[in-house]
Amino acid sequence: MFQLLAACGLPEEPVMAPPETDKATEKELQRIRRLPENRVCPNCLKEESLGFSAVCTTFKTFICHDCKSAHQSFSHRCKSIQMSVWTLEEVKALDDCNGGGNAAAVRKYLGKVTPKDRVKQGSTLELYKRFIQRAYVDQRWADDQPEVSVPEAPQALPAPSSPETVEEPRSRSRKGRHRKRREKAANLQSDSVQVAPDGLWQHDLRSAT
Ligand SMILES: [Zn+2]
Repeated sequence: MFQLLAACGLPEEPVMAPPETDKATEKELQRIRRLPENRVCPNCLKEESLGFSAVCTTFKTFICHDCKSAHQSFSHRCKSIQMSVWTLEEVKALDDCNGGGNAAAVRKYLGKVTPKDRVKQGSTLELYKRFIQRAYVDQRWADDQPEVSVPEAPQALPAPSSPETVEEPRSRSRKGRHRKRREKAANLQSDSVQVAPDGLWQHDLRSAT
């Protein structure tokens, strides 16, 4: 058919970006959406046997309607599976191997959540919002919470101004070096005192020979 059209000299169909997700991307999106872990809302544990219709793209989670509303109140970006246009990159980002999907989000943000921390299904929007705030904004249940304080790094900076008070190896060695230099200088001074007679003596010896 295409060959026929081409033979007739008719222009090919213009390759414009259609206002819908392309077939391969759609297929991949549906595959990821239907994975067992993505059919359970990571926040309220609601199950959807056919898969959810919303994704929070900020945290790459497949979520129920209530959690979507809660996320949106924090301006977390959410997209509809059916109504939004998806690019292959966006869909790939939802794959577990790229750190996306519900299992990855549970590992990252909900590693330490206990059953009583979770929002109960059918709760008010306020309770959903409170859970989303704690889990994703405050990240209080994150498994890999970074150490907030960086010990000694800020204290090490003003060390040169007060080397006496800081018990830090580098400043101590510098102090030691200073002391050695001072001792050396003192030796030089005491040497110089003896230099005259020494020199004289050597001079005398040399002149004697
Ligand atoms: Zn939910």
